[in-house]
Amino acid sequence: MFDFSITADDPQTAAHMGTAARTGIFETPHGTLLTPVFAPVGTQATVKTLTPRDLAEIGATLVLSNTYHLYLRPGTHLVADFGGLHSFMGWPGPMLTDSGGFQVFSLAQMRKLDPDGVTFRSHIDGSLHRFTPESAIASQEDLGADIIMCLDECAEPLDRKYNEEALTRTHAWAARCRTAKRRPDQALFGIVQGGIFGDLRMESARTLRALDFSGYAIGGLSVGETKEQMYATLDVTVPELPANKPRYLMGVGAPEDIVEGVARGIDIFDCVLPTRVARNGGLLTRQGRMNLRNARYAADPLPVEPGCDCYACQHFSRAYLRHLFKTEEILGLHLATVHNVRFMIRLMDEIRQHIAAGTFGAFRETFLAAYRLPDQAVRHEQKEKRRQRLEAAKGQA
Ligand SMILES: [Zn+2]
Repeated sequence: MFDFSITADDPQTAAHMGTAARTGIFETPHGTLLTPVFAPVGTQATVKTLTPRDLAEIGATLVLSNTYHLYLRPGTHLVADFGGLHSFMGWPGPMLTDSGGFQVFSLAQMRKLDPDGVTFRSHIDGSLHRFTPESAIASQEDLGADIIMCLDECAEPLDRKYNEEALTRTHAWAARCRTAKRRPDQALFGIVQGGIFGDLRMESARTLRALDFSGYAIGGLSVGETKEQMYATLDVTVPELPANKPRYLMGVGAPEDIVEGVARGIDIFDCVLPTRVARNGGLLTRQGRMNLRNARYAADPLPVEPGCDCYACQHFSRAYLRHLFKTEEILGLHLATVHNVRFMIRLMDEIRQHIAAGTFGAFRETFLAAYRLPDQAVRHEQKEKRRQRLEAAKGQA
């Protein structure tokens, strides 16, 4: 039911990096995924501003949703009563849910760990809840996604002692999740942790590999370490994972990180970045991120990205989209999201074509040379805004 086959290995990356960029076919009960694949994130059982019809038109194949959020609202039992997430949100294609662990560690107001699980207060109303490996699996069986995740502990990436302790729990919980899982129509992935510490990552990969999961995720990255640290961690982790199982880099990423992840043998990615920056007027192009609010686009007749086949670029100018953002029209959020998700899907299509043709190495160089990174100041400002929003949300609860 979850057959995964590699269709091409890229000889250039294999020679340079030890692990090859690869294309594959991953069969799931709700459809076939061509990998490498990018999953847009539907936190609350909706990819913000897009209908499932939009997602299908854009070419999305895999959609991610968050167990923590759906557990709190509307409750995973309610989703189960509606036949699971696919029918509740009207998305017939493959889906992936996380275990809720990451949000407990990043969002919940209070958390108390013990060997058996984690107790936390909801970031919405402060109510008390508890996740155990068994309950995280039960919640995900209620939701019914095709790919589900073990409960893990996402530690501070640079804190060695914390990572050592967290790893012991993460591994014990992975074994318990493996035992608790009942549904044959769901593929359970183990999650490699260990911060930026190569030896811990290798130990984690080997431990999980021995438990024989349907696929392997790499968690705890893109959470505060540098890009160089993230790439170095992938360099030591991926070779420890079985070549014949899908590899999923959780919460990544930015277009440049996806290209670098693919180069290191990653098959599955997810990230809120394309949809989140879209709603702030940040449009992804091959030259980098474009800030649509900038005055220079006020009378610009060009589409967001000339050559893009998305609905927004086919029908509207930068000037019109900018106008929608300046007047805070809802349509602006939708059109920007359509473009950004389509940008990611086209990027993945092109990556797969280049791997199949044996030209991914050259594509990677060309892409990275053209793609201008958002400068540190912009990134810092966005992080600060997110922090303030989070603080505000906590204050309201
Ligand atoms: Zn477009």
